[in-house]
Amino acid sequence: MSGLSRRLEDVLNTRRSNGLYRHRIELQSPQGSRVRVGERNLLCFCSNDYLGLANHPAVVAAMQKGAAEYGVGSGASHLVAGHSSAHAELEERLADFTGRSRALLFSTGFGANLGVLTGLLGRGDSVFEDRLNHASLLDGGLYSGARFRRFLHNDPTSLEVHLQSASTDGLRMVAVDGVFSMDGDLAPLKELAAVTARQDASLMVDDAHGFGVLGDSGAGSVEYADLGEQDVPILMATLGKALGTAGAFVAGSDDLIDALVQLSRTYIYSTALPPAVASATLKSVELLAEESWRREHLKALIQRFRVGAGELGIELMPSETPIQPIMLGSPETSLRWSESLLRRGLLVTAIRPPTVPEGTARLRITLTAAHSEEDIDQLLDGLNELA
Ligand SMILES: *Cc1c(COP(=O)(O)O)cnc(C)c1O
Repeated sequence: MSGLSRRLEDVLNTRRSNGLYRHRIELQSPQGSRVRVGERNLLCFCSNDYLGLANHPAVVAAMQKGAAEYGVGSGASHLVAGHSSAHAELEERLADFTGRSRALLFSTGFGANLGVLTGLLGRGDSVFEDRLNHASLLDGGLYSGARFRRFLHNDPTSLEVHLQSASTDGLRMVAVDGVFSMDGDLAPLKELAAVTARQDASLMVDDAHGFGVLGDSGAGSVEYADLGEQDVPILMATLGKALGTAGAFVAGSDDLIDALVQLSRTYIYSTALPPAVASATLKSVELLAEESWRREHLKALIQRFRVGAGELGIELMPSETPIQPIMLGSPETSLRWSESLLRRGLLVTAIRPPTVPEGTARLRITLTAAHSEEDIDQLLDGLNELA
């Protein structure tokens, strides 16, 4: 057997025997509260389409119109010939919406985080990250070549201790998730911004799960914490979650955006998003700004779920966001719960290491504005059988 074959067999066998083997289910329908998988219609509680915009008729129509106007592919990277008026208009709209000077589109959130951290940091610099940060922030920090430190989850004191003992040479960057993707809790952004400023460092927030959901206008966890461009000079958010489309953006000062265009390899060497995706996203932002009922409905569903789960004696994590995990510990128990819910027509994925730390496998339930109160009750019925 070749080295490669042996390696592949080893890796796959280890994953299978530890309950960590992953597979994909295949959807035959759009995103929504109900999805079609094989012969079954399932009530879905694991999508990040928090506002139910991924299949909104107006967003779909905007994408079709965008495709009619610009075609399907962007054809090149932004710096070559791939940057269209649709991209430019969306960048302006996103900067305006988040109260930042400028915004820059990336094709994926993973690429945006890699591009920012590896573009701005290098040897001689330092980066400080919450230990539960998304993989893309952690990888970006590691690949950057900067000194890399992890501080305790949501602990501004732990961050301050690290900042005090670290080198003051070079750039010092603190990077956190605004909403932690597997736990649903919020970063204490006000406190983190204060520590960061006091210790002469700069704060970057990845708001993939807060943008569109939190804040009075839906501008996310920085709006919720009332922090401007001075406090959070680097704001990143994705468009594939609450906005229902795809891609990501980074927002900040004129110089930040200019520098990223020069330095960010995932920006420079990657094909621009299809312009029609930008057209669709413009419509999503419009719906977000004009129709706050989705956020309010979602908030009511979160409340209903938490109260209901409490009545069943199910312990939830301290989350006020649509991410409502149930911590089960072992991968096997998580899979068993997920499979049992599936038999009742409820789709909830088990999240296992290495996505989450060892010993913290869980069900990750996500609620969306597309759900009804009856959907939540059905989920609670399913959980009641297991609890
Ligand atoms: C989803 C996610 C990303 C990656 O964004 P993509 O556009 O899906 O590549 C980055 N950070 C966080 C916190 C995320 O949840």
